[in-house]
Amino acid sequence: MEKNDNAFSIPTGKNAPVTTSEGITVHTITTTTGMVCKAFYTDSPIAETPEYVQIGLRASYDYLSPEHYQAAGKVHEILYWDRSNRFCPTCGTPLVQKEPIMKKCPNCGREIYPVISTAILVLVRKEDSLLLVHARNFKGTFNSLVAGFLETGETLEECVAREVKEETNVAASIIKYVGKSQYTFNTPNDTVVKDVHWYLMMADSYHSKPQREEYFVDSGYYKYHEAYHLLKFSNEKQILEKAYSEYLDLKKSNLWGSHKYF
Ligand SMILES: [Zn+2]
Repeated sequence: MEKNDNAFSIPTGKNAPVTTSEGITVHTITTTTGMVCKAFYTDSPIAETPEYVQIGLRASYDYLSPEHYQAAGKVHEILYWDRSNRFCPTCGTPLVQKEPIMKKCPNCGREIYPVISTAILVLVRKEDSLLLVHARNFKGTFNSLVAGFLETGETLEECVAREVKEETNVAASIIKYVGKSQYTFNTPNDTVVKDVHWYLMMADSYHSKPQREEYFVDSGYYKYHEAYHLLKFSNEKQILEKAYSEYLDLKKSNLWGSHKYF
């Protein structure tokens, strides 16, 4: 940590205060507030100087701002994942870092991701229309509901609002927690099962534009039947059906838009 008078922070600047050893992976992690962090592992302890001091993650909670502590927690998880996943569990070949959170085996093609705890899916409505994002992955462009993963130290409600904002730039309020399901995430050799929480939200406007341009090419509103056919994943179609019937019930009782229902 960097010492500034009586406060502490994560060191900032163009160069790391400690030299990186050769061949080490430098990870890039972006926090919920958009702070870009670089993280790498070092073998030897760093001696205290007038400018810097090394301190454990738990202890740093008392010294760092919440934003910096959250960033420290996140890079700690990624570095742990990096150190404990060096070789392909299928064929033993050293893994190659492909993306900030993905490693790939150059021999058999197996992809390794960190264990991801909780996911969210959000159905955003504006009057009679539903918000879809056009996302891009390795296989091309597809339509999806707003979705994402819980960040360290974030509540589900904060996560939902952040993902909607990042993926569509729409400000939306939660109308109803629709439910929870198990989500299977397929990598070529693994099926990872995790919880996914669904929310029904109401948008403030029809204007949408993704903020994370690298993954989301576009976003827009569609009628229910159009949206149903445009969605790629069957679990999203099921969530759409359930959330749509919830919406119709609320509307029939004249409750849509007048209150928040958690
Ligand atoms: Zn392999």
